[in-house]
Amino acid sequence: MSTHTDKLPYFLGFDARSKDAYRSIIDQTVQAVTDSVTDTGAYKGASVEELQNLMEAATILPQQGCGWEAVLDEVKRTILPNFLRTWSTNYMAHLHSPALLESIASELILSTFNQSMDSWDQSPIATEVEVAVVSELCKLYRLGDDADGVFTSGGSQSNLSALTFARDWYCNTVLGHDVKKKGLPSCYQKLRLYTSEVSHFSMEKSAHLLGLGYDAVRKVPVDNLCRMDVNALKAMLAEDTEQGLLPFCVVATIGTTDYGSVDPVDTLRELCDRYNIYLHADAAYGSGVQMSSTYQDRLGNLGLCDSITVDFHKMFLLPISCGAILIKDRSLFEVFTLHADYLNREEDEEAGYTNLVGKSLQTTRRFDALKVWMAFQCRGKDGFASIIDTCIENAAYLAQAISSNDRFELAIAPELSSVVFRLKGSCEKNKQVRRELLHHHQVVIGQTVYQGRTYLKFTLLNPMVTHQHLDELLVLIEKLGNLIQ
Ligand SMILES: *Cc1c(COP(=O)(O)O)cnc(C)c1O
Repeated sequence: MSTHTDKLPYFLGFDARSKDAYRSIIDQTVQAVTDSVTDTGAYKGASVEELQNLMEAATILPQQGCGWEAVLDEVKRTILPNFLRTWSTNYMAHLHSPALLESIASELILSTFNQSMDSWDQSPIATEVEVAVVSELCKLYRLGDDADGVFTSGGSQSNLSALTFARDWYCNTVLGHDVKKKGLPSCYQKLRLYTSEVSHFSMEKSAHLLGLGYDAVRKVPVDNLCRMDVNALKAMLAEDTEQGLLPFCVVATIGTTDYGSVDPVDTLRELCDRYNIYLHADAAYGSGVQMSSTYQDRLGNLGLCDSITVDFHKMFLLPISCGAILIKDRSLFEVFTLHADYLNREEDEEAGYTNLVGKSLQTTRRFDALKVWMAFQCRGKDGFASIIDTCIENAAYLAQAISSNDRFELAIAPELSSVVFRLKGSCEKNKQVRRELLHHHQVVIGQTVYQGRTYLKFTLLNPMVTHQHLDELLVLIEKLGNLIQ
C-alpha cells in the first residue's frame, strides 16, 4: 500500500524532483510560521493542563507515517499557536533572546548541509570558517597572539571546559601531576575554586563532574551592587592557603544571570598572579557588550583572563545553540586532544588539515560559527553596538522609573540590561502578578529571590522595546498589584 511518505524524497540532491520537494516543504513551513503570528503577545496563555492534553491526544509513533502534509497540519494546530514568541516586546523573563532574521537563514543553510565540526573531511569550509571566526573573537576580546577557541553548546559547556583547563593546568604546573593520564591527585579534596555567591550554577555542576564536588566551590560574598567582594576573596585565599588548601581557580562573572553585575577582572588578575591561580571570565551574559564602544568599559579588560565564556544566544541575539570558549594559551586545549584512527589521524594534521575535535568536549558538532560569520558581516560592529546600547539604556530608564515610584522597590542599579525590582508588599503578591501577566496579559517576565524576598525581573535583550512600552508595563503591574492585595 502506498502512503504519503513514499512521495517525499529523502534528501535534497541534484535532481529536479528533490529540489522541488525541498523548496516546497520550506515554503510551506515559512507560510505556516508567518501565518501563526497573529498578534504581538509573548504567550497565548494556554495552561499546563491544556498543553498536556494536546500531547496526550497525539500519536507520536504511528506504525505507518501520515506524510508531510498531515504532520505540517498537526504542527499548525498544536504547536505553532502555543509557542512562546521570543521576539515579542512583552517577553523579558530570561536571558533568552529572539533570533536575528539573517541567523535563521544561517540555521537553514547549516542544517541543510549538516556539516560536522569534528574533522576537516566532514566540514572543509565550515572548519575554516570556525577557525577564522574564533581568531576574530580572540582579537575582539584582546586575548593575544597565543589565543585560540572553539564553539560550544553554550555557557555551561564553555564553563565546564574552562574549569577542566584550570584544574589540569594547576595539577600539571603546580603539583606536577597529569590528571589526563592518572586521574585526580591524592590531594584532590584540597582543591578550591572561588566564585561569587551569585555566580551561575554551572560552577557547582562542573566541580561535581570534575570530581571535586560542590564543597570545592568557595562562594565569595558580594558588595551592594552584587559584584564579587575582592577584600572578602583576599581574606578567603589567605585563610585557605594558611590551612593548606589549594586554591586553583577564580571565576569572575561578567554579567551575573539575575542582576547583570560585573566582577572586577583587573583587580582579580593581580590577586590571581600573586597566588598563581587561573582566572576564568564567565561572560555568557556580558560578552555582547564588547561590541559597544560606549559601554565596553563596564566589562573591564577581559584580555587579562586565562579564558572567557562567550554566549551568542543571549545579548548577540543568535539562535540556540551558539557559544564559544576562548583561551589565552592555546596549548591548554591539549586537555581534550586524543587521536582516533578513524577520525583525526596525526598524519593528516601534520599535512595541514585541521580537526577541531581536538579542542572540544563534543565529537559530532554543529556548524554554529556560520551564524556568527553571517550576522557579524551583515550588521557590523556598529549594528550590534546599537542593539546592545539600546538594551542597556532601556534598563537605565526602567530603573529610574521604578526608583521614582514609591509603589516599587529596586534591588540594585543595573550595570547591563537586567532590572530586578518588586512591588512593595508580600512576596505572594509579586508571585501572583507574574502568573497573572503570563496567563492573562500575554506578558512574560522573570522572578527571582534577592535578600530572601521574591523579586520580579525584566531581562531586556530586545532592542525593539521602547520607553513607552516599559512605562505601560509598569502601570499594568501596579494595577494588578492593587487588585491582589
Ligand atoms: C546563561 C548563563 C550560563 C549558562 O549558559 P548556557 O548557554 O545556558 O549553557 C552561564 N553563566 C552565566 C553567567 C549565564 O548567564
